[in-house]
Amino acid sequence: MQPDLVERLTAIVGPSHVVRDPAELTSYQYDGSADRALPDAVVFPADAEQVRLIVEACREFECPFVARGAGTGLSGGALAEAGGVLIVTSRLRHILELDVANRLAVVEPGVVNAHVSEAAKPYGLHFVPDPSSQGACSIGGNVAENSGGLHCLAYGVTAHHVLGCEVVTPDGDLVWLGGKRYDEPGYDLLGVFVGSEGTLGIATKVAVKLTPLRRTRHTLLASFTTPDDASRAVSEIIASGVVPAALEMMDGLSVRTIEDFVHAGLPVQAGAVLLVDVEDLPIAAAQTAAHVRTVCERAGADEVRQARTEQEAHRLWLGRKSAFGAMGRLSASYYVADGVIPRTKLPQVLGEVARIGERYGLRIANVFHAGDGNLHPLIAFDDRTPGEYERTVAAAADILRACVRAGGSITGEHGVGVEKRDCMTLQFSPADLALMSRLKAAFNPDGLCNPGKIFPTSRRCGESARIASRGGIAPDTARAAGAAF
Ligand SMILES: Cc1cc2nc3c(=O)[nH]c(=O)nc-3n(C[C@H](O)[C@H](O)[C@H](O)COP(=O)(O)OP(=O)(O)OC[C@H]3O[C@@H](n4cnc5c(N)ncnc54)[C@H](O)[C@@H]3O)c2cc1C
Repeated sequence: MQPDLVERLTAIVGPSHVVRDPAELTSYQYDGSADRALPDAVVFPADAEQVRLIVEACREFECPFVARGAGTGLSGGALAEAGGVLIVTSRLRHILELDVANRLAVVEPGVVNAHVSEAAKPYGLHFVPDPSSQGACSIGGNVAENSGGLHCLAYGVTAHHVLGCEVVTPDGDLVWLGGKRYDEPGYDLLGVFVGSEGTLGIATKVAVKLTPLRRTRHTLLASFTTPDDASRAVSEIIASGVVPAALEMMDGLSVRTIEDFVHAGLPVQAGAVLLVDVEDLPIAAAQTAAHVRTVCERAGADEVRQARTEQEAHRLWLGRKSAFGAMGRLSASYYVADGVIPRTKLPQVLGEVARIGERYGLRIANVFHAGDGNLHPLIAFDDRTPGEYERTVAAAADILRACVRAGGSITGEHGVGVEKRDCMTLQFSPADLALMSRLKAAFNPDGLCNPGKIFPTSRRCGESARIASRGGIAPDTARAAGAAF
């Protein structure tokens, strides 16, 4: 990296907010995915103007730059694959405005998701999107990935709860997309920005909607002998006209692994468990809970129980939220696949997932947002066994193929990033991808902003392209991919 650029960055943020030490840089070669890539420098700006100056300097030196929130992303989006500068938002962590009357907040991008709801709680409000990582992930990351969460089934994902973003464009301009009002005239550039995985600019402020907390919430646990019965219950609950606040499924392997880890009170003999939250005014909530119980029993549930206290409900949800962490008990590593299918295809695709696991000799646990049909097969693997990572990637690609064949999509909420870029061709035609690339070029003409993400390379879906370090995948390849698309 050019010394002059390092000097510029140091002048912008101060010497204590630039990391260049190789040992320290290794902490920033990861996100939550299996890939890794070493940046040349990490910088920690204190405000939007510093972000703008950093972007300006990177442009001048033709150096790639990548925004990073908390690094919990599951598709390699925050990896500096082509090297360059990682712009970490952890110092941008202030809630700037809490406008109770207008039910909105303006926050900096590094604010942790859960902290928004904590701040709004005394006013009976909360920020709806609640990824299982909400205790760590940042609002900027949520916007970039258009994150979902346990309670997004009834209330919508991040895109439905963001009113506007202040953005440093890859050209170094500071603009607002959307604002604090509902709807803006002109093109819906906010709609384009949310979910663009850090490739169209860096959010420096986010205006989010706050939603009233419902007065009554009931949590039900239904256990089934087979995932098929549980899947049928999922379809029947929604088909009966009820949209629960959350409707999650865990298969037997997940239940036992989680229970062993957090002792949440899950039934370890079950073949599958549904966790359901219903929310409404008190009488309606009680009626809906009774209805969900009946539907589950009709679908063959062995047991349906309702949490009697808030603590009991909290413990059950803690179990679900700890699912990914619990996978460490199954194997040294795990790989989270993230496909979407129509709910009615759950039995068929879960069956295919099991067969794929057998074919590749890999154990796969399923924990997922069943109400949305958003699957998360967790593939257990051991990096130290030669070839196992490659088999895992190939199995994950087969799962995505099964999702697309069933009428679904290759990602529900974790984004495409590095991990799924070569699977984009399963779902999109060359014309689709070319249109997307022209849009990207309009925002990011020289391709320096988060290069190499989302768009396919020359590899095939499922062909391992692990970037073990900078140079594992040639920066030129990443740049070419960024420029070509
Ligand atoms: C245990 C676990 C559970 C999870 N559960 C869920 C879940 O239920 N639902 C879900 O949707 N996801 C889930 N995730 C994935 C992840 O937490 C989300 O994608 C989250 O939004 C990422 O936020 P982050 O701050 O960690 O972003 P990072 O990983 O740091 O970055 C993610 C992407 O956002 C971009 N980015 C970050 N900040 C900005 C910014 N200010 N402006 C522009 N781009 C930016 C980065 O360049 C990158 O492309 C889970 C992850 C883990 C590890």
